[in-house]
Amino acid sequence: MTPAAATLASPGRQALDSALLQLDQAADRLHLDDGLRTMLATPRRSLTVSVPVRREDGRMDVVQGFRVQHNTTRGPAKGGIRFHPSTDIHEVTALAMWMTWKCALVGIPYGGAKGGVSVDPASLTTRELERVTRRYVNEILPIIGPDKDIPAPDVGTDEQTMAWIMDTYSVNAGYPVPGVVTGKPTTLGGSLGRAGATSRGVRIATLKAMSGSPEGRTVAVQGFGKVGAPAARYLADAGCRVVGVSDATGAVVNHSGLDVEDLRAWVEETGGVYGYRHADALSHEDLLELDVDVLVPAALEGAITAENASRIRARLIVEGANGPTTPEADRILADAGITVVPDILANAGGVIVSYLEWVQNLQACSWSANEVDTRLRDLMEEAFDAVAAMSAERGLSLRQAAHVIGVGRVADAHRMRGLYP
Ligand code: GLU
Repeated sequence: MTPAAATLASPGRQALDSALLQLDQAADRLHLDDGLRTMLATPRRSLTVSVPVRREDGRMDVVQGFRVQHNTTRGPAKGGIRFHPSTDIHEVTALAMWMTWKCALVGIPYGGAKGGVSVDPASLTTRELERVTRRYVNEILPIIGPDKDIPAPDVGTDEQTMAWIMDTYSVNAGYPVPGVVTGKPTTLGGSLGRAGATSRGVRIATLKAMSGSPEGRTVAVQGFGKVGAPAARYLADAGCRVVGVSDATGAVVNHSGLDVEDLRAWVEETGGVYGYRHADALSHEDLLELDVDVLVPAALEGAITAENASRIRARLIVEGANGPTTPEADRILADAGITVVPDILANAGGVIVSYLEWVQNLQACSWSANEVDTRLRDLMEEAFDAVAAMSAERGLSLRQAAHVIGVGRVADAHRMRGLYP
């Protein structure tokens, strides 16, 4: 694609181009043949649905929904459902592909999937949101199930959404099927420790990547939401000084350190970080460019680009979001000696505890928070050590190493299974 065409492409198309480029580079390093490359570049199943929704005033709107199963070679497809106005089939495909490598990298028996509905949940009443969710699930019903494809929360969806999904699927099945979805409320078979799991994984990855003590290390978090806010809290608990955070409403900085819990209470009360009294306001761009030890991008794709990468001053970037750094930005950051812990490693805590939830559902049992946390830590640390070792051995960035491991494991599984017929 020419640079001009790349600028015109939708954010979703750009995310997919990034994912395909990362796959291509890993495939080169693994010397994969053309047939296998094409298999891995192509989703196994890709469904677009129309979701009619009755609005409160009686009108009917139709929104688009998607579910992409990128790969099912190592196990059933797994991945979240995103409700966001700019979600499109390209973005969902990219996110599904990243889920495949993520699950392989952390050694859990899943392929990768993602779902999405092009809707702004904030523009809907709770009843409209419930209707959108249930109708979307009804449309994708034939391809999901505890042995087929297991959705979970992502941007714009939460425990309540997962409860509606569990209910819609179960009512259609005629009996309760808790294992069809993860990230459920604990009263419906959700796992202890699933809420906050992605953020605890971010903390584990950050502490592993930091050389020396976390005490007093400065942190900026872009996206003070479901992943970013608890990550800020966990990093502060570990001794770091969280100096800046941002969300859709604005960005705030306090160089002496923010009181993360007080800020969360402010956000709860007002709907965003904007106007927080014990900090100064700054622009979204300036937040990303703060002179800090650690930057955690925890919002959407494409936050760190060729345009702003050269102004990033953090020494370490830990990707709480999926795809926040473009491949061009990656090169600029590498040249500047900035370490990036890639998304498929840094934010894998969510799907790891989703897996633990699913195992508990299938066995009809429940584990203690401690047991869940120990397993999360073991899987995260094992994956981190494998990536660090591969990076050192082959002179690769952590992202390149993570992709070589993830893509390599999926390629091995394809070879062992062979091609039918
Ligand atoms: N949406 C999360 C992710 O991107 C979690 C997926 C899951 O738990 O299946 O990793």
